[in-house]
Amino acid sequence: MKVRLLGTGTSTGIPVIGCTCAVCTSSDPRDRRLRCSCYVETNGVHVVIDTGPDFRQQAIAYRIPRVDAVLYTHHHFDHVVGLDDLRPFCFDTERPIPCYARSNTAAVLKNMFGYIFGEGSYPGIPNLQLRTVSEPFTVHSRYDSAKSIHVLPVEVDHGNMSMLGYRIGNFAYVTDTNNIPDASLKMLTNLDVLVLDALRDRPHPTHFTIEEAVEVAQRIGARQTYFVHMTHSVLHETAEARLPKGISLAYDGLAINIDS
Ligand SMILES: [Zn+2]
Ligand SMILES: [Zn+2]
Ligand SMILES: [Zn+2]
Repeated sequence: MKVRLLGTGTSTGIPVIGCTCAVCTSSDPRDRRLRCSCYVETNGVHVVIDTGPDFRQQAIAYRIPRVDAVLYTHHHFDHVVGLDDLRPFCFDTERPIPCYARSNTAAVLKNMFGYIFGEGSYPGIPNLQLRTVSEPFTVHSRYDSAKSIHVLPVEVDHGNMSMLGYRIGNFAYVTDTNNIPDASLKMLTNLDVLVLDALRDRPHPTHFTIEEAVEVAQRIGARQTYFVHMTHSVLHETAEARLPKGISLAYDGLAINIDS
């Protein structure tokens, strides 16, 4: 399995517009963070988790060849607003791209992108199919239906909102959360790699702090954990140095190979 973290920053992206702080002006490329998104290729199936406002430049920079499905975690702007940029992935096959989401997120996407998901078709829209999920599901390649992968949605809390993390084999991606219920923790055992939200040091009502994320990561016990969704209060080099063994700060473009 090949995983690529296409973006690892919080909703503003880093640098923050107009900001002159140490992180926003850092010369360390690991301190430049696009909005969170992830690309997974396994068993000949290519999936993207979330399509935020930077999706187009991420897909170009990391040469994403195709998309067989999109897994949406939740409907905040920084995770969904690049949805229309899936259109070029529809040019070479008539098969629609299934977009998986929890019911609350599917309802918002239908509203936000009414010209795509609503009645009556407008020419020049991406060929997408919205699918509501709560149970494990199978994603097939759009080019070779013999190729497929199993995906396990993992429900987590993001403040008052319920949203989804996703597990594919021994890899799990859990962004934007401040609480993982016990039933979901049970779905995250025996992981090789976990990607987890760790916003900053100061508490936040809907995200784990770095300290909280370390505690949860150690409870989950993945062989390797990478933190994402950091704000501009997190300088990569110093934050990384404080983390225990087996936990690292992710950065944009990080490529992870997992034997599966
Ligand atoms: Zn977010
Ligand atoms: Zn800043
Ligand atoms: Zn969010």
